[in-house]
Amino acid sequence: AQARLNLERAPTEVQELVHTCNMMLDRLSQSWEQQRQFVGNVSHELRTPLTIVRGYLQSVLKRENNLTPPQREALTTAASEAESTIRLLQDLLDLARADTGYLHMHLELLLLNDLVGEVAAMAQQYSNREITLETSNSKIVVKADRHRLKQVILNLIDNAVKYSDLHSAIAIKLDTSDQRAIIHVCDRGLGIPLQHQQRIFERFYRVDEARNRATGGCGLGLSIVKTLVDGMGGNVTVRSKLGEGSIFTVTLPSAA
Ligand code: ADP
Repeated sequence: AQARLNLERAPTEVQELVHTCNMMLDRLSQSWEQQRQFVGNVSHELRTPLTIVRGYLQSVLKRENNLTPPQREALTTAASEAESTIRLLQDLLDLARADTGYLHMHLELLLLNDLVGEVAAMAQQYSNREITLETSNSKIVVKADRHRLKQVILNLIDNAVKYSDLHSAIAIKLDTSDQRAIIHVCDRGLGIPLQHQQRIFERFYRVDEARNRATGGCGLGLSIVKTLVDGMGGNVTVRSKLGEGSIFTVTLPSAA
């Protein structure tokens, strides 16, 4: 009789337990939501004044001819720190928007060769590294968000630059396969140990302290890349060998 009683009571207990768990989950997701909104709002609020600061610094550097070399150096460092903080805030804002489903993608038909060429030329200029562009097909058209796709490629090139030797080659290769457009960003740098390769797309994940202390950054770049590429219906993968280099591959739906 005792066993039957327990059995009869079991569903009620389970129901109560499920009810309590649901309430806890609701509260957790509410506070998680608030957390995301908070990060989004803070990033947004900080980005605006910093953009103004960067603007003033750049305009002084451009217009003021009487700066002493140490003054110019100090202002240049300040402008570059402002620039990387703005990028970090933009990344946080994008991730917060992606989490809440508000990351807007403006998809349009784009000639990939031109877009990648533009980004490579720009990166080559500011990084002072030679970046080659190879493609077997002169017209690869993708349906993607122009600004976001540039951000993706620039992030991958930035990493290739950061994690490789000053004189080693960086190559971008474009290809197509099965209605997909493929972008490879290849470097001959440090490489990434196998056990880290899946985790580097996680937020704030960085491979090791030694390599990271020297390069700055905070482990958000690749999670942004993944979020943006996913948002455009594509995917991103890595192939890498420690000491030999890395190939990051972005695959996007091709439109022609
Ligand atoms: P960050 O570069 O700011 O640390 P990322 O999310 O862009 O953040 O990259 C995560 C980690 O993956 C980096 O800290 C680095 O250890 C590793 N990594 C990324 N790209 C490369 C690359 N091209 N070569 C070697 N390691 C890389």
